[in-house]
Amino acid sequence: MSEAKPKTFYIKTYGCQMNKYDSELVAGLLRQHGVAAPEDADVILVNTCAVREHAEQRVLGHLTQLRLHKQADPARKIGVLGCMAERMGDDLIARRPFVDFVLGPDGYRKLPALLGFDEQPEWEENAEDRLETYTDIFPAHTEGVAAWIAVMRGCNNFCSYCIVPYVRGRERSRPAADVVKEVRRLAEQGYLEVTLLGQNVNSYWDGEHDFSDLLKMVASVDGIVRVRFATSHPKDLSDKLIDTIASEPKVCNHVHLPVQSGSSRILRLMNRKYTREQYLERVERIRQAIPDVALTTDVIVGFPGETEEDFEQTRSLLEQVEYDGAFVFHYSVRPGTAAARLPDSVPREEKIARLEELNRLQKKISLKKNRALVGRVEEVLVEGPNRKRPGQYIGRTETNKIVVFSPTRKESRQGLVRLRIVDASAHTLFGRELDGAEGETASAVAVAAASED
Ligand code: SF4
Repeated sequence: MSEAKPKTFYIKTYGCQMNKYDSELVAGLLRQHGVAAPEDADVILVNTCAVREHAEQRVLGHLTQLRLHKQADPARKIGVLGCMAERMGDDLIARRPFVDFVLGPDGYRKLPALLGFDEQPEWEENAEDRLETYTDIFPAHTEGVAAWIAVMRGCNNFCSYCIVPYVRGRERSRPAADVVKEVRRLAEQGYLEVTLLGQNVNSYWDGEHDFSDLLKMVASVDGIVRVRFATSHPKDLSDKLIDTIASEPKVCNHVHLPVQSGSSRILRLMNRKYTREQYLERVERIRQAIPDVALTTDVIVGFPGETEEDFEQTRSLLEQVEYDGAFVFHYSVRPGTAAARLPDSVPREEKIARLEELNRLQKKISLKKNRALVGRVEEVLVEGPNRKRPGQYIGRTETNKIVVFSPTRKESRQGLVRLRIVDASAHTLFGRELDGAEGETASAVAVAAASED
């Protein structure tokens, strides 16, 4: 029998967008129960990340703070979810004894029963199934205009520095029809944009459809005006996929294409399965097919054995590609990975110096690229008010650049609006509504484009 007293829960999320999606999935599993602040909740869940040592240290620090909530109410349950829970298992409970349970990314179906929220669920026998895709669970998406959807889980690539294949298991894709069903439901709820998520999303294969097919199917859903995806592996970025991005108007002209290093020698040690030259060839192919594309990337500096010369090659690659944005990290050892067996040879200060150098370089490039947009008219999907500056609103261009503007008309506060870019910083564009005749011209262009569809 379910207990009479309504239960409440609180979820704190660390890490990547996949983890944020998983928290929405967990909230979906517990949807008939209430959300509460941590000090009032019957259950506190911490969804963790194991990708970098720093992320794990932050989680351990946060858990120490949660001890007070446990002391205030010993009946309150504290659970640790996600990649760190999978990696550390009971060792985590030994280090933080007030934690009641740990549950890895494939075990969330067990949660309602484990918490005593519900009777044993009918699908408990699937719990901890390494082929888990949660395809029958509808997540409690956060409010807004844009939602994220995991279309696949796990990874087969075993990049030598990465813990993901060990904690999230092998790659498996959800059936395309199920993804489309979820997207339709989101469209009915008023979402305008979806981002298809996977650790290696462009190797999606459900036995019948590849990722290009899936993009087209999702883009055909009425009500959805933009489709994004993350994250792509360069070795799986096919010509077919590039041509689909180019030809499908709803698929945004933005490709996040992690390079990790500009040195083919380091890429081999990282087990990335492409060379600098092969990566640059893909970049050229993308830019030929989609001239207005925005490219972003991830970089790791200070990988074991990275020399000054290797680093210089990464620096020169950033200069050559001129990304719109780059996330630069310094290498941290992940126990159990192949790279953990290599000597961590680059001193910490040197790693930080290399990271800062790349960040300075990228900031200059981002500023240059954003300034080149000043004077242009961009179509912006409005996300809502700017919480930091009353009166201002925030939206994104198709190329995923943030635009801040002050709407004077009600119709500019939601949906797609066309804005003239009037200023730019390295991370933000500043826009204004089109006035008078130019607004009418833009509307006419938009109507003409819509009627061509
Ligand atoms: S592609 Fe490489 S870096 Fe990305 S999740 Fe898989 S193993 Fe990790």
